[in-house]
Amino acid sequence: MRAAAYPGTFDPVTNGHIDIIRRASKQFDEVIVGVLHNSQKTPLFSTEERVNILKEVTKDISNVRVCSFEGLSVDFVRTCGAQVFIRGLRAITDFEYELQMAQTNRIMAPDIDTMFLITSLEYAYLSSTTVREVAMLGGDVSKFVPSFVAEEMRKKYGF
Ligand code: ADP
Repeated sequence: MRAAAYPGTFDPVTNGHIDIIRRASKQFDEVIVGVLHNSQKTPLFSTEERVNILKEVTKDISNVRVCSFEGLSVDFVRTCGAQVFIRGLRAITDFEYELQMAQTNRIMAPDIDTMFLITSLEYAYLSSTTVREVAMLGGDVSKFVPSFVAEEMRKKYGF
């Protein structure tokens, strides 16, 4: 069985993330989406909320599992029984950081590889940070995230 782990913050999950999850699910028997719990940061959505949101918006993809993790992503990949990391690449600006992370992870865990999926053109501009900013200012985010997420954001910001 070939399993891939897709770690990230997903605060919130966007259509760009979902595109990556959907495409990865066609290449692997199982995709495990890992929601990072970082006690040093205060995200918009708690870890539990992000896990529940991801479960809801990926419920139609049968080979996707969602869980949370803390600490090193290489440990998360191993615990899941996966052999590879999935990461999404948007612009050149992602590349430098992702290259550094992939090489660091490779030294820590030579048996685990990182595979990059290039963003689909229609999501190339999309980031969770921008979506949060638009929502915070009362903008409509329904073109950037699933309607369930847009609704959860409206509730969070009290619109
Ligand atoms: P992190 O904080 O680990 O970067 P994110 O949740 O922001 O977590 O992103 C997780 C992964 O998804 C990263 O590899 C990121 O580059 C990728 N990603 C984010 N937005 C998009 C997008 N619009 N298209 C493709 N990949 C994306």
